[in-house]
Amino acid sequence: MPTSLCEYCGTKFTSVVNLTASPCFRHPLGSNKGKHKLYEGSEKSSYTCKYCGTSNHSLANLTAAPCFRHPSGSNKGKHSPAL
Ligand SMILES: [Zn+2]
Ligand SMILES: [Zn+2]
Repeated sequence: MPTSLCEYCGTKFTSVVNLTASPCFRHPLGSNKGKHKLYEGSEKSSYTCKYCGTSNHSLANLTAAPCFRHPSGSNKGKHSPAL
């Protein structure tokens, strides 16, 4: 069964229904202020931030770190994976 990842936090789910039904601790509006969002890219060996190009083997690790080229301002948000 393919796994589904949250774009904000990198948590893996076995079903999209479960993913979109539970609150995301790394939601852009604040912790648990919204649901997980399906990452629509494929599962990769390395994920790259669409703002700055930083890459990490783990989507969870990538989205845990602040992005110095975030559109809201330097380090005002986390890295966000390109598809
Ligand atoms: Zn999430
Ligand atoms: Zn970044």
